[in-house]
Amino acid sequence: MDLQALPVTSVKGIGPQKAKELEAFGIYSVGQLIEYFPFRYEDYRLRDLADVQDGDKITVEGSISSEPVLQRFGGKSRLTVRVMCGAVLLTAVWFNRPFLKEKLRPGLPIVLSGKWDQRRRQVTVTDSEFAGIAGGRSGTLQPVYSVGGPITQAWIRRAIGQALIQYGTHVPEVLPEELVGKYRFMARRQAVHALHHPEEVEAGQEARRRMVYEELFFFQLKLHAFRSLQRKRSDGVAHVFDNEVVRQFVRGLPFTLTPSQKQVIGEILEDLKAPHAMNRLLQGDVGAGKTVVAAAALFAAVRGGAQGALMVPTEILAEQHRRSLERLFEPYGIQVGLLTGSLTDRQRRDTIASLHMGLIDVIVGTHALIQEDVTFRRLGLVVTDEQHRFGVNQRSILRRKGLNPDVLTMTATPIPRTLAITAFGDLDVSTLRELPKGRKPIKTYSVGPDKLERVYGFIRREVLAGRQAYVICPLIEESEKLDVQNAIDVHMQHVQAFPEFRIGLLHGRMTNAEKEAVMRSFEANEAQVLVSTTVIEVGVDVSNATLMIIYDAVRFGLSQLHQLRGRVGRGEHQSYCVLLADPKNEAAKERMRVMTETNDGFEIARRDLELRGPGEFFGTKQSGMPEFRVADLMSDFETMEKARDDTAELVARPDFWTAAVYLPLREFLRKEHVFDGDSLD
Ligand code: ADP
Ligand code: MG
Repeated sequence: MDLQALPVTSVKGIGPQKAKELEAFGIYSVGQLIEYFPFRYEDYRLRDLADVQDGDKITVEGSISSEPVLQRFGGKSRLTVRVMCGAVLLTAVWFNRPFLKEKLRPGLPIVLSGKWDQRRRQVTVTDSEFAGIAGGRSGTLQPVYSVGGPITQAWIRRAIGQALIQYGTHVPEVLPEELVGKYRFMARRQAVHALHHPEEVEAGQEARRRMVYEELFFFQLKLHAFRSLQRKRSDGVAHVFDNEVVRQFVRGLPFTLTPSQKQVIGEILEDLKAPHAMNRLLQGDVGAGKTVVAAAALFAAVRGGAQGALMVPTEILAEQHRRSLERLFEPYGIQVGLLTGSLTDRQRRDTIASLHMGLIDVIVGTHALIQEDVTFRRLGLVVTDEQHRFGVNQRSILRRKGLNPDVLTMTATPIPRTLAITAFGDLDVSTLRELPKGRKPIKTYSVGPDKLERVYGFIRREVLAGRQAYVICPLIEESEKLDVQNAIDVHMQHVQAFPEFRIGLLHGRMTNAEKEAVMRSFEANEAQVLVSTTVIEVGVDVSNATLMIIYDAVRFGLSQLHQLRGRVGRGEHQSYCVLLADPKNEAAKERMRVMTETNDGFEIARRDLELRGPGEFFGTKQSGMPEFRVADLMSDFETMEKARDDTAELVARPDFWTAAVYLPLREFLRKEHVFDGDSLD
């Protein structure tokens, strides 16, 4: 029996009128009705008054032990009666339900649900029933559905209950057996039932665990199947190079790669060689060493005869990457160019011409890279760093400049960005799971602004030990002028406090040449302290810097603080981060606490999500996030990842497109228009 095709009118009590009304909820078939799951439950399970807390919503059973008293005032009324619950004598109060008075007779057993007032030993009753009635609510978890208009809560509860009675045993299994076994899921039939009528919280949770996975499984199956079919079309660049030359390049690095770096480079090289276009996301915490992975990929692409582009969000970062790539590529005669908004016209013209002629092998730049007059001779690989600063649109423009180049996107923000992309994306994800060896966790302190003298002492100590320090002034949103002025003031204070050191200053109002000069002198340790606005936030890499001071740290969000802190702790020396903060509210206090407690970017992203809430994190519905019926992208992302891995593995099996066991899955894909046919043959 195909419940998805069976009209909802097959359920007793649902006529044409109700069927019409259900359409507004996207419910046409019995299957859809049965899969219309509650979004929460009301807890009518009986509680023992010994375990309840003041303010809890409780359900208790007892017997009426006094005559009811009705008071009227204005148009309102208050009805009270004494109820003996076990050893506790409590008062039950109803507002504006005078008609109940007749029913409340001393000696009758009764079940009360409502809010518990511990001090008064009183329940403000929202629901009551006399004990022992068949089909009563007491003792259960009642499902709450999203309803409206003519469809009421009570009606839909009854309708779904009836549908389950008639058709519950026909609910089919849809997940491959091996997965049901692997995760020890309850049968689908059982799960559907338990979601509507959980007898225990645990059963409801088990049911939810299964249905969440199922929903995400089919979502990911669609993505992977689609991608796999696209791959068979092979219209990308198949780079031809010898892995041995890349290994040689890697051996020439001043350090050995971490296991993750090796693995990820391997994944990328494989993608580069394949005829389909790579679309890969590289995620790794700040300091995990993403740049060298990009360098290896660019190196391979160039060795294969292609040009590469590295796109970054700021000019400072572009400069820095240009310098480090030049250092790495110099011995191999690979030409590195720079294209940013602040080149002179002449420089810009020259650079564009060289790119066009193919004289530049690797170009590093900001969004200046994607202007219309920039053309490439043979663009084969595009890497974007800290991509969350770019719109999707900009990336696709750059893509169009080449012949469907391979794309590698790097980010230090694992969620929600990555999650979003995993959710939509025809993206492969590589992860740098560990930091390079020998890194010491950054020690973070949160101190009040009154401790400034001690902070100065800290700076002095580090600089005298040969290290360097950043001092970050917050962005003052209201006015860039104030912002710059603030940085200038803080700079002045440091110049006065440390006459013996050189103090650099960096802010958004400086020209690019000025910024570059400042960065160079800091990199060369000619300046020991760098006072900066948040222009320094992403990517900057000076491994001798060991101290990060953040003024007015409460003004920053968690992710931003983590990014800023990631500017230190990049070498073998112990590094420190000092948050100057006077947190006034709970959220700010919590942010400071999270920062002092953990260095783990993934954990921080998770806490950030919790603190800011989904609304702010994802934006509103217009963000284009897919909507799920059971799954919640916030809390179920680990399941999303499992589903992703499982479906990827499944679709990659040689017989996925032909074997009979996968027919139901292919059937689903056909219905979803991912492909047409029963098998690929
Ligand atoms: P991020 O992932 O934040 O972009 P970077 O690529 O800037 O990190 O790397 C941070 C620092 O770690 C750089 O100075 C880089 O040279 C260094 N680094 C990268 N990989 C390793 C490694 N395997 N061993 C030691 N140092 C490394
Ligand atoms: Mg980086």
